[in-house]
Amino acid sequence: MSNTPNNTGLAVLLGAGPGAEGLLTREGEAWLRRCQCVIYDRLANPTLLSLAPESAEKIDVGKSPSRNSIPQEQINDLLTAKVREGKLTVRLKGGDPLLFGRGGEELDALCEAGLAFRIVPGVTAALAAGAYAGVSLTDRRFASTVAFVTGHEDPEKEASSVNYKALAGIDTVVFYMGVGRLGEICRSLLEAGRAPDTPAVAVENATTPHQRTIRATLATLPEIARAEALQAPAVVIIGKTTETSRRWGWFERLPLAGKCVLVTRSRRQASRLSAALAEYGAEVIEAPAIEITPPDDWGDLDAALGRLSEFDWLALSSPNGAEAVLERLAATGRDARALAGVRIAALGDATARALRAGGLRADLVPEEFTSAALSRAMIEQGMAKKRILLARSDIAPRELVETLSAAGADVTNVIAYCTRRPAGLPAAAQEALQTGRVDWITFTSSSTVENFVTLAGKPAGCKIAAIGPVTADALRAADVEPTVIAQPHTIDALVRAMVDWEKQTP
Ligand code: SAH
Repeated sequence: MSNTPNNTGLAVLLGAGPGAEGLLTREGEAWLRRCQCVIYDRLANPTLLSLAPESAEKIDVGKSPSRNSIPQEQINDLLTAKVREGKLTVRLKGGDPLLFGRGGEELDALCEAGLAFRIVPGVTAALAAGAYAGVSLTDRRFASTVAFVTGHEDPEKEASSVNYKALAGIDTVVFYMGVGRLGEICRSLLEAGRAPDTPAVAVENATTPHQRTIRATLATLPEIARAEALQAPAVVIIGKTTETSRRWGWFERLPLAGKCVLVTRSRRQASRLSAALAEYGAEVIEAPAIEITPPDDWGDLDAALGRLSEFDWLALSSPNGAEAVLERLAATGRDARALAGVRIAALGDATARALRAGGLRADLVPEEFTSAALSRAMIEQGMAKKRILLARSDIAPRELVETLSAAGADVTNVIAYCTRRPAGLPAAAQEALQTGRVDWITFTSSSTVENFVTLAGKPAGCKIAAIGPVTADALRAADVEPTVIAQPHTIDALVRAMVDWEKQTP
C-alpha cells in the first residue's frame, strides 16, 4: 500500500474546519485543489468545494436531521469505489474528520479493501467555538481537564455510555450534537453532582456569519435555549471557563456581525470587497449585476497595440482595461517592454495594481478616482498634440474622449472589454432580497446600479453603499438615496464607510 497518489487511487480524509473558509488547513486546501472527486457532508462549508477543480466529481452525502440519512455503509462503498476507480478522492468532513465524524468506519472500509489513504486533521467545532465565542477551554485559573462528549449516541446502544458521574469531575465539558437532548444532558450532569450555577454557553454556527452564543447556567440552559430557539449545529460548553465569553466574545461584536450584504460587482472583481466585508463579520452574498467579457473581436485593440510607438500616453480607467492590454501583448508574443516609450495614466489604485502585476508602474494616478479627475490630471501634463490611447469598456462615457480632444489631444478610444447585464441574479441573492433579510447593498459603478434595478427592481428597505459620486448619481436617478458614499472612492473606504455608519447607529 502506498501513501502517495498514483493511478491506483488515494482517499484523503480531510477536515474542512468548522465553517469559516479560512480555517481549512493549507494541506487541506492543497489536496482539495488537486483532487478528482470530493465526497462531502452537510457541515462542510460548501464554498470550499469551489477550491476543487471544475472537472472533479462532487458528491453530496450530507446527512440532515430532516432528511433520511444515507446509511454509513453506502458512504463507505462509494468512497472505496471511487478510490478503486483510481481517483484521488477527498472525503471532506466538517471540523476534524475523526472527531465524532464516523471517520473510523470509513478508514476500516478502506483498510479492508486494501486501499491507500491519508488523514488531514481539521479545526474541530469545540476549539473553533471557544476561539470565536471567547472561551479558553483550559484556562489554568479554572480548568485543568476538558472532555469532548457526544450528545447523540448510537441509537442501537441500550443504556447511555456517557459516564456522567465521571464527567461531573471534569472542569470543562463540551457536548457535540447536544441540541436535541439538552434537557437530558443538563439533568444528568446535575444528578451527577455538578453545581446548578455552573456557567454554560451554547455556540450555534460557530465561526460563520450566523454565529450566536447563548449564555446561561447548567440549571437554566435548557429553558433559555428553548426560548431562544437554539438550532443545530451548536456545541454546548459547560464549566467555569465559559464565564470569559462575555468579555472575550469578540466575533459577534464585529461591526458588521449579523449583517447581510449584497456585493453587485462582477464575479471576478468581487473577492476583495467580499473578503473585506467578511473580515468585519458580515454575511456576504455575491450578486453580480455585471459580467465582464472580452470584446467581440480584438481587432481594434490589437491594431492600436501594434503601433504603440505612435502614442504618447496610454490611459486606463479600470483593472479590466489594464489586464486586457497585458493579455493582448502576451497573446501577440510581447510583454511590458512594448510600452517602453509610452506614458501611462491609471484611474484608481486597483488599476495601478493590475499594471504592477504585469511589471508596469503608472506615471500618473490622480488622487481622486473619477474620470473627471483623470482628465484634469492629464490636461495638467499638457495635452496639446499628444496622441492618447484609451483602452476602456464598450460602455465607457464619451466625456473623457471629448475633454482630452478639446485640450488638443489626438485620442484613439478602443474597446478592451465589454460589460453585460447577466441573465439574472443568483438564487441565494434573490432569496435574501425576497425575504427582506438584506441589510446593505454595495454598488461600485453606475452600470451595476442600472443593471441591478433592471434585474431586481428598485432596492427597498436596505441601506445602500456607493463607491463614489457617479455611482451615487446613478442611484439617485433610480430614485434611491445612498446611505453612505465612499471617500476616497476605493473599496477600502467603501467598507470603512459602512462600518462607521453601523458604529454610529446603534
Ligand atoms: N467532526 C466534527 C463534528 C461532527 S458532529 C468536528 O470536529 O467539529 C456534528 C456536531 O459538531 C454538531 O452537532 C455540532 O455539535 C458540532 N458542530 C459542527 N460545526 C459546528 C459549528 N460551526 N458550530 C457549532 N457546532 C458545530
